Amino acid sequence: MSGEPRPVPRPTPETLPYWEATRRRELVRHRCDGCGAGSQHPRAICACGSTDLTWTRCTGRGRLFSYVVVHRPEPVFADEAPFVLAIVELEEGVRMTTRIVDVPADPSALPLDMDVELRWLELGDVNLPVFAPARPEGS
Ligand SMILES: [Zn+2]
Repeated sequence: MSGEPRPVPRPTPETLPYWEATRRRELVRHRCDGCGAGSQHPRAICACGSTDLTWTRCTGRGRLFSYVVVHRPEPVFADEAPFVLAIVELEEGVRMTTRIVDVPADPSALPLDMDVELRWLELGDVNLPVFAPARPEGS
């Protein structure tokens, strides 16, 4: 036991729409209306200079791009180790840092490019987007 409460993300004015969406269990990203580029991180101005950014909903499907198995995390996360910290490339083409759940924290269970799908980790007022191996079509 760490004794400390698990940290919960604190919305800022820029990230509030993102966290409000997670309460509805919707994963959203910023898409630029000027050039079409997407970003998983909220931002006020696109690299192209446009400020016309729209929150758009993601499908929640993606693939495992990269990961590490964390055995010795910060003390506050010690109870959860080992866990899988991953970069998932969403179907929309943007990459996000997240966790892989519902699978052993072992490389034999984590082939790169594995299809993954969105799940939610409930943390008080917010839901954290995490991913698990995708279930086969129709199941
Ligand atoms: Zn742009």
